[in-house]
Amino acid sequence: MLQLKFYAYDLKFDEVFAVSANARTGTEIIYVELASHGSVGYGEASFPPYMKEKRSDNLEFLASLNLDSFDVHEELPLQNYLQTFSNCLPAKAALDMALLDLKGKLNHCTVRSFFTTEPLQPIPTSFTIGIGDDAFLSRQLKKAEAFPFIKVKLNGDQVYVKHAISLIKSSTQKPLGVDFNQGVSNKQLALEMLQWLHEQGVHYAEQPLPETLRSDFAWLKDNSPLPIFGDESIQTIEDIKAKHHLFDGVNIKLMKCGGLTNAFAMVKLARQYNLQLMLGCMAESVCAITAAANLASLFDKVDLDGHLMMTNDLFTGVTLEMGHLYLSSEPGLGVQNKQK
Ligand code: MG
Repeated sequence: MLQLKFYAYDLKFDEVFAVSANARTGTEIIYVELASHGSVGYGEASFPPYMKEKRSDNLEFLASLNLDSFDVHEELPLQNYLQTFSNCLPAKAALDMALLDLKGKLNHCTVRSFFTTEPLQPIPTSFTIGIGDDAFLSRQLKKAEAFPFIKVKLNGDQVYVKHAISLIKSSTQKPLGVDFNQGVSNKQLALEMLQWLHEQGVHYAEQPLPETLRSDFAWLKDNSPLPIFGDESIQTIEDIKAKHHLFDGVNIKLMKCGGLTNAFAMVKLARQYNLQLMLGCMAESVCAITAAANLASLFDKVDLDGHLMMTNDLFTGVTLEMGHLYLSSEPGLGVQNKQK
């Protein structure tokens, strides 16, 4: 028998975070707990405003579940049951995290060991710089100092793109990637920007065009000097099947795909298509970031910095040192609820 508890919580940022479509100072989340045999597993669902998923729908979905007949020791029955519901992928991600955390604790092993036998290593992560004025970019550059890579959020404004990248390059020689979050309105403008960014030594570009411009992505991939990663265009394993030919790489996130189990399946399929793999995140607390870090060794690039701007995180988990995440070898995900 699995006992489910869940509650809504609002994470607050240390400053305004802006991407091409919006600016905000916090994020709505849901924390999930699954208890059995005297242990508790933890999970988290995050709801940034640009996702179609709404917290209210996910709370309703969680309230509708009856997990009394499920046993933590059975292989995949809960995950299979959850697949019978459409949507509510963030809530499914939280349940998958909590179940795996619980399984790890009861079996005295890490969740990481369910997916890989590679030795535990420090995880180099990029630091993401949002959109803002010169003072903001300078503050963010200071925060990025210890990190090995920087991801720069950009929009469809060529003047801003050139100004922000030039400013950042004038103060750091670190490898840069960029993320447009669908901000460029047409393929010709996108190509012009990608060519300029390539001349500046930028390493990759994420989601330049809106996901609706599917055929334009095919053209852009054929003509771009930079590798293009799909993020908003590729949410689930079905999207990899349908759109793998449009991209050079894919940004896999637990909140988009419904958890570690689904993310692991996406990794295996994406490798078959020779896609580069980035492990990304939403604005999330340490709980979900630590969950994702359990998969980090399977990826080419790791972008797990969504927790660093939170001022009211309820969890501890991965620690950060010199731009590297350190995962504990404690059983489960490696997270602790500070209130328990
Ligand atoms: Mg992105």
